Amino acid sequence: MRYSSSSFSRRSFLAGASSLGALYATSKFAPLPALAEPLGDDPRIAKQPIADKGFASVRKIGDGLYATIADRSKGLQARCNGGFLIGHDAAIMLEGFQTTTGSSFQLEALRSVTQLPIRAAINTHWHFDHTLGNAVYGGAGIPIWAHNDAPSRMAAYYPRWQAEDLPTFLAPWEKRVREAKTDSQREHAKSDVEGMTGMFVPVSQAVLALPNHPLDPAKMPMEIDLGGLTVVIETYIGHTDTDLIFRVPDQNIVYTGDLLTGGQYPVNINGYPTKWRSTLAKFATFDKNTLFVPGHGQICGLEGVAEMQACFDDIAGQAEKLYNAGVPVEEAVERYALPEKYKTYRQFSWGFCIGRTIEQFYAEWSGKPVPVLNYS
Ligand SMILES: [Zn+2]
Repeated sequence: MRYSSSSFSRRSFLAGASSLGALYATSKFAPLPALAEPLGDDPRIAKQPIADKGFASVRKIGDGLYATIADRSKGLQARCNGGFLIGHDAAIMLEGFQTTTGSSFQLEALRSVTQLPIRAAINTHWHFDHTLGNAVYGGAGIPIWAHNDAPSRMAAYYPRWQAEDLPTFLAPWEKRVREAKTDSQREHAKSDVEGMTGMFVPVSQAVLALPNHPLDPAKMPMEIDLGGLTVVIETYIGHTDTDLIFRVPDQNIVYTGDLLTGGQYPVNINGYPTKWRSTLAKFATFDKNTLFVPGHGQICGLEGVAEMQACFDDIAGQAEKLYNAGVPVEEAVERYALPEKYKTYRQFSWGFCIGRTIEQFYAEWSGKPVPVLNYS
């Protein structure tokens, strides 16, 4: 029941956001929605976008630096954020988005600013919503860079899904809904069906383009000189084991991929929550004027890192109490109580956010593997 009320408030929120969108559609330059107030005055962030398709807009955020911010209330063509970085000699662009519409939009926006060579389009990690639009880059002759292990992770899942149909793919998940013993278990299981569907459908529609230029994590941090603009690529374990971030130290700007997200529960379907929390603790030590472009959600400062840390702390704190009280993991994943302040937080699904995180904490604390949902 808790889940129902949260999904209801999320829907109401989205409905509100779309009517706002309709209101602003009449004006050429829409304000940046939900941009945290203090950042509205950050001189680095341009008030007006250079391109805006509703589902995403591109904005200058620094010298040669641009952020592509997705707005899922207007469509999932982009679904994740991205951006591009332009020096005197070359440019790089970040993310392949969920569809080729998203990646084409970003490529066109980049081309409206510069005709310099594009050295690379880089996936921050292997997930579908950051990679399925890669074919546009491949077709344009732009090398696709990613962590060494990103292509094999994509290859392990997505071609197999493309060989299946949706009902077969969903069967084990639908079975969990049917066999649920309580209302909340049923609602949580239903949210997992929605999450799986939301991954399966775009994957089944995509022409996969795997990254063709693997980056060796052993060689990171790695510096890229674009001509007067130095970008440092670093790798951290957290959201996946292929996460990359892009730092421009001279301007205190960082593109984080999904290691940092705003307004949503951390998605742990392939995550490592304890290492992820350490990564966030590291981000918290960055310069106080750092501007973060997160994988999802709005551009933020260090307060965005603190907010995500607090959400993780809440899950860990509740899980620890249940663990110490001897509550079995299968029950603990259902008993997490959604705090009022996170009721508007988006959940990819209950199981992949809250469930999976609690399962992993239990496994670490007990030193034993725990039964986990079958995510493959
Ligand atoms: Zn992801």
